[in-house]
Amino acid sequence: MTLVPFDDRDGLIWWDGAMVAWRDAKLHVLSHGLHYASAVFEGERAYGGHIFKLRAHTERLIGSGRLLGFEIPWTAEQIDAACNQVLAANGLTDAYIRPIAWRGAEQLSVSAQKTKIHLAIATWPWPNLFGADRMAGVRLGMAEWRRPHPQTAPTASKAAGLYMIGTLSKHTAEAAGFQDALMLDWRGQVAEATGANIFFVIDGDIHTPTPDCFLDGITRRTVMGIARRHQMNVIERAIQPEEMVRASEVFLAGTAAEVTPVRQIGELSFTPGRITETLLADYEALVRLSPAEVARIAA
Ligand code: PMP
Repeated sequence: MTLVPFDDRDGLIWWDGAMVAWRDAKLHVLSHGLHYASAVFEGERAYGGHIFKLRAHTERLIGSGRLLGFEIPWTAEQIDAACNQVLAANGLTDAYIRPIAWRGAEQLSVSAQKTKIHLAIATWPWPNLFGADRMAGVRLGMAEWRRPHPQTAPTASKAAGLYMIGTLSKHTAEAAGFQDALMLDWRGQVAEATGANIFFVIDGDIHTPTPDCFLDGITRRTVMGIARRHQMNVIERAIQPEEMVRASEVFLAGTAAEVTPVRQIGELSFTPGRITETLLADYEALVRLSPAEVARIAA
């Protein structure tokens, strides 16, 4: 597959309240967001013209900015409308949506009190993160980098800077032939993949790490809701890496990854099974419902 660079595409990008031509959506090189990672973003997906759990994503975006000490100068209603507007303006119904907020170029030093906060929203077609053959399960290598302590970084924020260790980990995993990396946290407990949360089926129950130093993903919470509606037992707890050998099934959950079976973690092998298939099918059905139906089911 040829890779079309992101600055060499056509379309429209919503930027600070205006719709700009994709090719003109350029940023000054002395932007604070670039130098000091003062940027937060979201990853959303639209299915059949509806952005799944849009308000939850928008609220997380606003909250991520607050965790980095800034206020996005738009209300949740305005941001939701802008996401829908950019999707329609690009003639897309099934797509990935990427809002990003960052500090501007007014001041370039660690102190950034005088910077303006910008918001841009782009959208493009993006099939599943792991591609069409993901049903057989993806292979994860163990990352050397660890998710930091919440007093070391604002770990509840979807902040650009937190992806530094994600990219490093993913590159090492890919170089070793894996598709992604599984990260432990600062304590050595199982945390998450580089862009998705992780679940283990152990003795028929569903176990997932407590999200105390990584994102409590919107997909994660959605999948937990689906599992509980199936009367499955869902347990959030600290999971040690030695316990992974007991899992009969493993899967990832995230907006870009959706529900993706895992067939290998380091030396351990797993076979995607009935529980993963059930949750995957239900997730795929749920995301295609109207927002009103989604809200009714979740209530
Ligand atoms: N962890 C990380 C590091 C991620 O980038 C994502 C994707 N946003 C997730 C977890 C899953 O979050 P969500 O289900 O809200 O997309």
